[in-house]
Amino acid sequence: MVMSRPSYTVELPKRISRLNDIAYNLWWTWTNPARMLFKELHPVLWDVVEHNPVLFLHRIERQRLEAKARDEAYLARYDRVVAAFDRMLREDATDMWLGTHKPELVGKTVAYFSAEFGLHRALPIYSGGLGVLAGDHVKEASDMGIPLVGVSLLYRQGYLRQRIDHDGWQHDVPANLDPHAEPTVQVFNDDGTPLHIQVDLHDGTGPLRLAVWRVQVGRVSIYLLDSDVEGNPDWTRQLSSRLYGGDREHRLRQEIVLGIGGVRLLRALGLEPAYWHANEGHAALHMLERVREHVADGASTSDAIAAVRRSTVFTTHTPVPAGHDIFPDEMMDRYFSQYWGGLGVDREEFLALGRADGEPGFNFTALSMRLAAHINGVSEKHGEVSREMWSHLWSGIDGDDEPIDSITNGVHLRTWVSPILRPLYDQYLPSTWREHQEQPQTWQTIENIPDADYWAAHQQVKRALIDEMVERSRRRYAQGQFDAWQVLSSGAFQNVHALTIGFARRFATYKRATLIFHDMDRLARILTNPDNPVQLIFAGKAHPADEGGKRLIQEIYLKARDPRFQGRIAFAEDYEMGLASLLVAGVDVWLNNPRYPLEASGTSGMKASANGVLNCSILDGWWIEGFESDESNGWGIAPSPLDGAAQDEAEANAIYDTLEQQVVPLYYNRDADGTPREWIKRSKKAIRTVAPAFSARRMLIDYLDRMYGPASAGEESAAPRGLVATGD
Ligand SMILES: *Cc1c(COP(=O)(O)O)cnc(C)c1O
Repeated sequence: MVMSRPSYTVELPKRISRLNDIAYNLWWTWTNPARMLFKELHPVLWDVVEHNPVLFLHRIERQRLEAKARDEAYLARYDRVVAAFDRMLREDATDMWLGTHKPELVGKTVAYFSAEFGLHRALPIYSGGLGVLAGDHVKEASDMGIPLVGVSLLYRQGYLRQRIDHDGWQHDVPANLDPHAEPTVQVFNDDGTPLHIQVDLHDGTGPLRLAVWRVQVGRVSIYLLDSDVEGNPDWTRQLSSRLYGGDREHRLRQEIVLGIGGVRLLRALGLEPAYWHANEGHAALHMLERVREHVADGASTSDAIAAVRRSTVFTTHTPVPAGHDIFPDEMMDRYFSQYWGGLGVDREEFLALGRADGEPGFNFTALSMRLAAHINGVSEKHGEVSREMWSHLWSGIDGDDEPIDSITNGVHLRTWVSPILRPLYDQYLPSTWREHQEQPQTWQTIENIPDADYWAAHQQVKRALIDEMVERSRRRYAQGQFDAWQVLSSGAFQNVHALTIGFARRFATYKRATLIFHDMDRLARILTNPDNPVQLIFAGKAHPADEGGKRLIQEIYLKARDPRFQGRIAFAEDYEMGLASLLVAGVDVWLNNPRYPLEASGTSGMKASANGVLNCSILDGWWIEGFESDESNGWGIAPSPLDGAAQDEAEANAIYDTLEQQVVPLYYNRDADGTPREWIKRSKKAIRTVAPAFSARRMLIDYLDRMYGPASAGEESAAPRGLVATGD
């Protein structure tokens, strides 16, 4: 197997030619000196290409490169980055975290399947928190020396880009991802022909051929399957075009490609994973394909299932019904009637694998729960909710507890701590803070940062956020697609001195983005108090098919220009990881008000706390664990026991009370030189308490201890109902 030379590389001056290698490894995204090597070549172009280094090197003028290739100071920095890059790639895992703490796992590869990966804004193959979590998981695995290989799809149109029109309506614009202009390289066979994986959808169109692309994330490779191959029927070439873009049948086909194609891909690459991890039920079919392999090798179906179970980890991510894939029997018949024979089962036994509590349809979460012995939810509360939700699968099976554990999500701190704050962390934390980030004592010296420096740095991030919002709307205005009202809705009057509340996430209904508008008069009084002004910044995309979500965006977008709010509300278009990294560090308060208990975890609030931004959130998901009950690291809103509209009203009022009585007075309580001492105290406490406990490092350690260790050792757990020939 050989890898192609990236097809889009440009010839660089020899002295700085390794910039190409750095551009094709996303390691630079969490390594500030590497990022600066690109940015300082041409800061304006860097923004124009949306921080995509492959495009950047292609577009930049030769003279600039040649000048830098003679600039001694630049070359010294370049040499240091290249040396660190090579060390990172070549370091022996036995000397890294894994080798020193879990030597038995060195050399045991985990295959990690996910329908999306949020790695960087320039590679739009993610839609929200699930994808960003997968990206953070992979980056941390690289940092720790965990041998992980990722599998996903290449979405030629990416996830949608959001354009909002004059009337506040979201338009879904394809991102048109050109893999040649991305940090992705195509995989070829030894003889120079493209590697193609075959999957038969059994729908009469013949086998589908899938091209393979690789994304390098530090030490970890992620392989992306791509159905846009010459010779495939037209409709199949569209198959992997859009993330969550089509109907249910489209989704099923994508999941066949991901799961079944993904296993065949790893085999074709000659990789032998020791254990396997499905990030959400979208990847469930990889388990069936492995059962089929065992049966083809001569195993009985029940032995094959037992073997797959022992080596499989499954993470469920949401209690919201729409988040679980359920396909009608008739559709499963069409795609699998020629497949289940290879599993050694008949139709009835096959469909039983996907049954959930007598409900109609084939449920991929139920399938995953049956075929994985190592199962977890993503926060303590979500573990509890999931055990309740899925208890029927284990009912009547005595002796064993239901084996659904919980591992609370975490965030990759090297990605999410703002580059503006990192120098302060480097100066005041122990120099090895990144290596010991999961330990609370590592963070104690955050207290030693002088308040004035701390506040100045925070104000600088806030200014960077506002600058970016203004620049984005200026560019839209310059393109002639934006009128003055849209400029206003986009936050023309944002002020760095006003208390700023951020709310940014997918516009799923349960997240209740418009809850804060429950009492318009009361909100207007809070925002427009002339002595203590408050501003609100919203961002987020609605799913393309979610009219309800789009209506919520419209409501906010139109309110943002309502004179009653005096310009204190903004809606920032096109939320993605780049805007997210500015928002989670540049606002003062991070607001979250999901309908309890539907927020399985939430991760943006963790990013906020790690930057000293104070959470004001319903006590749901991760915040139940992160919140200090004396409110010393943020504010927790207890969920109301009422239902529906009454619950909304009670919780909205509780949020207003908290803002009026606590948040606003605390923020504007300044000493003689204008520093909000008490606020800063809580802000530092937020970093100190949340960063270690909700770091991706802590999350990966939990996975190694409780999921990966047992899966690599082939441990069993209590088997649920609905398995073939287990005697239940
Ligand atoms: C972190 C992140 C999310 C997840 O946010 P939640 O609050 O967990 O919903 C979604 N989108 C982007 C771009 C993110 O960076």
